[in-house]
Order: sequence, then C-alpha cells, then structure tokens
Amino acid sequence: MDVNVNRRQFFKICATGLGGSSLAALGFAPGAALAEVREFKLLRTTETRNTCPYCSVGCGIILYSLGDKAKNAKAEIVHIEGDADHPVNRGTLCPKGAGLLDFVHSPSRLRYPEYRAPGSSEWKRISWDEAFDRVARLMKDDRDKNFEAKSKDGLTVNRWLSTGFLAASASANETGYLTHKVVRSLGILGFDNQARV
Ligand code: SF4
Repeated sequence: MDVNVNRRQFFKICATGLGGSSLAALGFAPGAALAEVREFKLLRTTETRNTCPYCSVGCGIILYSLGDKAKNAKAEIVHIEGDADHPVNRGTLCPKGAGLLDFVHSPSRLRYPEYRAPGSSEWKRISWDEAFDRVARLMKDDRDKNFEAKSKDGLTVNRWLSTGFLAASASANETGYLTHKVVRSLGILGFDNQARV
C-alpha cells in the first residue's frame, strides 16, 4: 500500500479525524444515537408479560404493543424480548424465542378455530362457541360410552381411557393446577404437555 501523503493531504486527514472525534465528544457517537432511537420506539408501547409458547423451559417474555389505548387504532405487537425479571431465563431467549415476533405476525398463523368434516378436504372457519360446544359434546358422548368405574377384577378404577388431553406449557402454575384437577377428575389418564404439567 502506498503510504506517501503530501502536506495538503496530511492536513485533510487530521481535520477529518478531529471532526469525527469532536462529534463523538459532543454526544453524537453512532452507538449512542442508535440506542436513543430504540428507546424512543418502546417508550410509547404497552408492556405485557407472557411466557414463550414453544418449549418446556417456559422463558418469560415481554410483549411491546402499540395502539392498545388509542381510539379506532388496531393494537399491534411491535417488539418482543426476554423478561429480565423472570426467574427462569433472566432476560435471555434462545433463537426460537428470539424469533417470536415472526411467529406472531406469520400469515399462516391459525387465529381462529376451523373444522373439517369427515371425508371433506375443506377447512371451514367456525366460531369459538361452536368449537367449544362441539368439543364438549364429543367429550361427553365419548365419556358416557367408555368410562370404566370398575376393572374386570371388580376394582374401583374410575378411568376414561378413550380420550386424551394436551395442555399448554405456557400456562401459569394456577392454570396448570386447575387443568390437572379437571382432567384427572374426569378420569382421563392420557394427559400431557411439553412441560409435563
Ligand atoms: S425461548 Fe427457547 S428455551 Fe425459552 S421457552 Fe422459548 S423455545 Fe424454550
């Protein structure tokens, strides 16, 4: 590399360096400037604490949303990060948790119940009430038909083996406890989730 510079070029280089360091001294350092923009972005948001839905680790997350309190505005989650106060992850997230914003805004994300009739290839959107009624109806019919109060040997077993239940690891302790009580009181033994409630 040619390192020869004439006197004029030397002064130009010194002036550029001096200008850059003076701007930094005045608080215009690029790092600080970027940090200010990010803080401003989150300043107007609503913070909601939640749990990552992916795996049994159950990391705490904070969802930042805009528009929650504005009239005629649609609320939207704009940023997600690890919850520094959460005892499980202390603010850290693995790559899956760190990509949660894409999951939330994915065009293929299922946002409502759908039903596919037997033999049909079409999924039809149904209301939450219709979905709950249908699940309750099918569970009741199946339990009435298959519940076993006694085993073949005459032992009291009170079990319902033909239906299973899959719960969510993102539930709080209280929800997990209640889910467990309801499922076991119905006699269901096939009960699980990725966090082993
Ligand atoms: S952030 Fe990663 S480790 Fe934590 S719950 Fe989500 S998927 Fe599991």
